[in-house]
Amino acid sequence: MKLRFISLASGSDGNCFYLGTQSYGILIDAGIGIRTIKKVLRERGIALESILAVFVTHDHADHIRTVGNLSEGCNIPVYTTDTIHKGMQKSYCMTKKVSPVNRRIIQKGEETIVRDLHITPFEIPHDGSDNVGYSIWCGNINFCFITDIGHITDTVKHYVAQSHYLILEANYDEQMLANSSYPLQLQMRISGDKGHLSNREAGQFLADNYPPHLRHVWLCHLSRENNRPELAYHTVASALESIGKSIGQDVRLMALPRTSPTIIFELSEHDAHPYGGTMRTLFD
Ligand SMILES: [Zn+2]
Ligand SMILES: [Zn+2]
Repeated sequence: MKLRFISLASGSDGNCFYLGTQSYGILIDAGIGIRTIKKVLRERGIALESILAVFVTHDHADHIRTVGNLSEGCNIPVYTTDTIHKGMQKSYCMTKKVSPVNRRIIQKGEETIVRDLHITPFEIPHDGSDNVGYSIWCGNINFCFITDIGHITDTVKHYVAQSHYLILEANYDEQMLANSSYPLQLQMRISGDKGHLSNREAGQFLADNYPPHLRHVWLCHLSRENNRPELAYHTVASALESIGKSIGQDVRLMALPRTSPTIIFELSEHDAHPYGGTMRTLFD
């Protein structure tokens, strides 16, 4: 069994990710336009009809704008916690709401099965109504998805430890945020316990809690104003090198582009180099 992953967009302008097999898949978050989602999938040979579910991490606009359209217009079920469903119902940024028939309520720590995908949501500290990350098993492959996270908890460590493939937030460079024109209150919200993770925090966390089977890390939700892809990449790369990991050999690392979609990554537990060739680093 192989898994395929695409980042359609990642950052405060909108987030959307695809994870699937050869024949079907799911979306995680849908915060970009429906036309873009359809276009990116079509260009990569993925039929919209093969999308079996949308899983939502939290109810901030950049993650949910199009969730209602996918549910109403394309009849796709939407999975998330009851609190996030309620938050989406109240949210002004969703012109279309999730139809009741497509509302699927999931619980943190409890596995939901979509064909071969075994998906467990877990608690994430952030300032949405409620916030989750996802740990997804497909055969022997684990994919762990964490965006918009204020700080690392023991629960987060527990799920990251199992990961072969990891999406982790590296939102801001601490120096850039401190020197930014953002009002102090906003700076404090971003760097606070329920805000976002900095490049340094992401790197430190991975160096201190290196998952034994980790193959690839994608850094996500990079700030447009307070980060640069190369800064995020080098900060996390240095942290990994400080514990003796060789980037491109032991683990692959990539900073996800904010507004442009990636290629399809083929993820497999067994291949030494799942997509061959030299390490690619995508900068927006
Ligand atoms: Zn966000
Ligand atoms: Zn958020």
